Amino acid sequence: MTTTIRLAHAFLLSFFTGAALAQGTAITEERVRETVSWLAADERMGRNTGSPELVAAGEWIAARFQAAGLVQVQEGSWLHEFPLPGHWLDSREVQLKLVRKVGNDPKGQQEFVLVADKDVRLRSVADATSGTDERCTVAVHDDAVLQRLLASDSARAPIVVEIADDHPAWLAAAGRHGVLGSKRQASRPVFYVRKGVLPATDKDKEPPTWTATWSTAAPEAAELPQYNVMGLLRGTLKKDEYVIVSAHYDHIGTGRAVGGDAINNGADDNATGTTGVLLLAEALMKLPAPKRSILFVCFTGEERGLLGSKQFVARPPVPLDKVAVVLNLEMLGRPEPGKQGKAWFTGVDFSDLGAIAAPVLQRGGVEVVEFPMAKNLFTASDNYPFALAGVVAHSLSAGSLHEDYHQPSDEAEKLDVPHMTTVIRGLLELVTDLANRDAAPQWNDKGRSFLERRRPKAAEKPANDPANGPK
Ligand SMILES: [Zn+2]
Repeated sequence: MTTTIRLAHAFLLSFFTGAALAQGTAITEERVRETVSWLAADERMGRNTGSPELVAAGEWIAARFQAAGLVQVQEGSWLHEFPLPGHWLDSREVQLKLVRKVGNDPKGQQEFVLVADKDVRLRSVADATSGTDERCTVAVHDDAVLQRLLASDSARAPIVVEIADDHPAWLAAAGRHGVLGSKRQASRPVFYVRKGVLPATDKDKEPPTWTATWSTAAPEAAELPQYNVMGLLRGTLKKDEYVIVSAHYDHIGTGRAVGGDAINNGADDNATGTTGVLLLAEALMKLPAPKRSILFVCFTGEERGLLGSKQFVARPPVPLDKVAVVLNLEMLGRPEPGKQGKAWFTGVDFSDLGAIAAPVLQRGGVEVVEFPMAKNLFTASDNYPFALAGVVAHSLSAGSLHEDYHQPSDEAEKLDVPHMTTVIRGLLELVTDLANRDAAPQWNDKGRSFLERRRPKAAEKPANDPANGPK
C-alpha cells in the first residue's frame, strides 16, 4: 500500500462511525465459523496441553499470523517457548504376555502375547519396569473406572485397559510419546490393549483371573517444550508501547466418554477467543496502523493453571511496563437467551477499562453488561498473571457458563456465530481505540487493593512452578 492510499484510507475512516471499521474486513460470519470449526474439530482431540494436536494448532495459528502480515517479536520464531516437567514413554518397547484362567481347570487357561504398539501401548508413568506372573486387572476403558483402579489397585498390580483403536487416548499413546506431569500415577504401569485382541468375558460364567508378565523401557524424565504463539502489529507514534490481545488456545483434551464421545472440543472454551484474536489480527492489518503496537498472543496451558500466561509474565518478550493494557478473550460464543450482542469484563470494577470500553463497543454494536460471576472469574484466566504484575488486564467474555462447559458437547455447532461476529466486530473498534488513545487504562483504588492483598502470596512461589495454579 502506498503512502498516499494509506493516508486517503485514514482520512476516509475518520468520517465513519458505527461498525465502519469492520466493513470490508475478514470479520464475516463465514470466516468466524470456518476458523472456530477448525479449532474445535475432533481432529484437534480437545487441544490438550502437551499433545501433538496442540502443537499443530499452534503452527496453524502462527501460519495465520504470518499470512496476515504480522511480524515476529523474536526474530526467527512465532513462539514463546517454555518447558514443563514430563516423561517420554515408548509403546514400541512394551512386552506383555497375559494369561487368562477360569476356575482351576488347566484347559480353561489361555495365553496372549501382545505385539508392542500394535496391540498394546503404555499409558502412564510407573516406578516398576518389569514383573513376572503378577496378578493384574483387565477392565474395559472408562475413565471413572480407571481412576478408581488407580486409586485402589495401583500399588499392587498392572492395569490393562481395553480400548477401541480409534479412541483418542489409544492414538495419543502411540510410539514414543511425551506425557506431562512430574509424578507417577501408579507404581505399576497402565497398559492400553486394543479392543478385540482379548476375548470378551462371558457374563454367565465365572469371571476369569489374569496374570501378566511384562516389561517396559524406563520412563525418561524430560522437560517438554510448550508454546505460546505470538505475532506483532507494529504501531506508529508509540510503537514501543503495546496493547496485548490474547486468548488461550488450549483445552482439556479427551476424557470420560459421554454418549460415545470422549473428545472435549472446547469450541466455546476457547476456540471462540482464539478465533477472536485471529480475526482481529487479520482485520487490523488491513487498517491504517495505530499508534501503539498490538501484540497478539495465544496461550497454552491455561486449563492447567494459567501456565502459559505465567511463563509469559515471568519471561516477557516485551517489557511489561510498556504494556498499556491486556484484553484477554474468553468464551465468546454461547450467550444466554436474549443476551446476543452483549459482553462483559471480569473484574470490571477494578479499573477504568469498562468505562472506556462501553461507549466504544456500543459504537460497534456491542453492549457491555454485568455478569454475576465476573468478579470471581477475574482470577481464573490469563489476564490474572498480568494483573498481579501490575498491568491493567481483564478478560472479556460474551457468553455464559453453560451446561456444555468442559464437556464433549462443547461443540462448534452449538455456537451462536452471528453473535460472535458482532462481538468481534465490536472488539475491532475497542482494540483500535486502546491502541490510539492518549491515556492508557488505569487500575482504581479497589483494583489496586484487591491485587495488593494477593500479591505477597503470589510472590512466594516462582511463577514457573506448574503447581502454582488456581485450584
Ligand atoms: Zn477458557
